[in-house]
Amino acid sequence: MRPGTGDVGLLGLAPSARVRAFAALALTLLAPFFAGSSKAETWDRIGSYAALIRRAGTHTLVAKDCPSALLGAFHAPRNALLICANNIEDDPRQVWVVLAHESAHVMQHCHGGPLLADHQVGNALARIESQSQTTFQELRLYHQSQRRDEIEARLVQGMPPEEVEALFRSFCADRLSHRKVAQPPDVLGSPP
Ligand SMILES: [Zn+2]
Repeated sequence: MRPGTGDVGLLGLAPSARVRAFAALALTLLAPFFAGSSKAETWDRIGSYAALIRRAGTHTLVAKDCPSALLGAFHAPRNALLICANNIEDDPRQVWVVLAHESAHVMQHCHGGPLLADHQVGNALARIESQSQTTFQELRLYHQSQRRDEIEARLVQGMPPEEVEALFRSFCADRLSHRKVAQPPDVLGSPP
């Protein structure tokens, strides 16, 4: 995980400089992935989960002018989660997948590193591959330095909402209890 380095893991975007400013860890699901296990998402659930994320100190933003192919992003130095409304259909399942994916990057931020132990990564990859070949293939397009984070985020996006929320409460427990973020930016790297 390299929050704050300015690296952008966007797929299918020509000038990475356009998004470099706001996307430290970015999601690009060129073919949206609807996990079979996450089927009961409603707007209420999305709203309540976003509220939980905000309670942990992370800003949640909805943009309508994202570059094409960018569905969402988490910008660690600003501790901000972005949802790209202009590239997402008005479908709660799709919004949920993006929110869950980006929230995994928030969890990594809370946790200060990977969510999985090294020996769990293989199983995570196998599970992602069994759920969606497309999602699995996307991982090959990321730079090695981002692949681990993206594996975890794709695992999380395929989990049932209650499990995603439980994970968030676990990894971001400190922030939820203190209700504020006291982490200085320099811990996360040097913002531009
Ligand atoms: Zn991601």
